[in-house]
Amino acid sequence: MTANEPLPDLKPVINAAGTMTALGAAAANREAIEAAAAILTRAVDMSELHGAASLAIAQATGAEAGCVTACAAAGISVAVAAAMTGDDLARIERLPDTGGLKNEVVLQKGHNCHFSGEIAQMVRLAGATVVEIGAVNRARGYQLEGALGERTAAALYVVSHQTSQVGMIGLEEFCTICQARGVPVLVDAAAEYDLQGFLARGADLAIYSAHKFLGGLTAGIIAGREDLVRACTLQECGIGRAMKVGKEGIASTIAVLRRWQALDKEALWRRETARAKRAAGNLQDIAGLAVSLEADPTGNPVTRVRIEVDAAHTGMDAGSLSLGLAAGNPAVHVRAHDIDPGSILLDPCNLSDADMDHVCRCIAESVAASRSGIAPAG
Ligand SMILES: *Cc1c(COP(=O)(O)O)cnc(C)c1O
Repeated sequence: MTANEPLPDLKPVINAAGTMTALGAAAANREAIEAAAAILTRAVDMSELHGAASLAIAQATGAEAGCVTACAAAGISVAVAAAMTGDDLARIERLPDTGGLKNEVVLQKGHNCHFSGEIAQMVRLAGATVVEIGAVNRARGYQLEGALGERTAAALYVVSHQTSQVGMIGLEEFCTICQARGVPVLVDAAAEYDLQGFLARGADLAIYSAHKFLGGLTAGIIAGREDLVRACTLQECGIGRAMKVGKEGIASTIAVLRRWQALDKEALWRRETARAKRAAGNLQDIAGLAVSLEADPTGNPVTRVRIEVDAAHTGMDAGSLSLGLAAGNPAVHVRAHDIDPGSILLDPCNLSDADMDHVCRCIAESVAASRSGIAPAG
């Protein structure tokens, strides 16, 4: 095999699932690819590049400063490390040994979700200990108050469709309680479109993925308080070194943040919503499916198609429909990671109208094939 031989043929994939790590995250946009290509063959002063990234992040988020990490999961570990060490290099080099440091990170139990890695493990990776408060479906301010103490380094707040959506302490109350005790609040907003709101509502650091809605190369973004961001950047002399981002990740993150600011986002969301509505229209007459449009649970500007599968009518449940679609060529992946046996979702963000039409045809064919197995045709 020579170096310029093509990759072995990979099965084509149509992604109607949303921005999924397992499907290679978002399709990177032209700006991200050009910025990466332009810098890959050059030598750069990395601290100057980090400085440019900090400015671009500050402009996009309204934060004092920012830094780019390997991904949002790395951003959680790095932010937790920063809260424990500050800018003290001796402490930075000592991690994950946290003897003598404040090393507890408070987290609502209902926020400890699995995003294909577990939030609590990303905290522990820095050497910190997770102190969970509340129950999966209920946490209250007094429990947060009670958990903050001498050893508290930070409190982590997770915004995601994968956390408990009810019964949790709201962000403002969470920040007010922590602020009164001088405890920094780190917000994992990896998949959230709102680049300014969490900091504006009191978070000290907010963490995002660059390869989700922004359409960048794989990278993470930390935005927030200047002293904490500096401590995050310095982790590259410590545990951050094992999860460092390259120049191409930083350059493409700057590019996608600028692109996002200049983009006509309303027009993009109108196109995506139209794609979801068109899919719903294509599917609504199929017997045994109940099709509806659904808003994103955390308020992101995404409208998805929910398809409830009536097993008695179709001869299959939503899980087997989803598996059958994924086994096709091209493989069709629908949003089924939080599958209840009854329904799947189609996400309009990472595919073309033609691809979405193909997804709908595959669903129609699967249902028809399954029905013909349980009932006489006609
Ligand atoms: C996607 C996601 C992550 C991980 O983001 P990466 O940038 O892929 O590491 C962390 N937390 C939440 C809530 C996520 O949705």
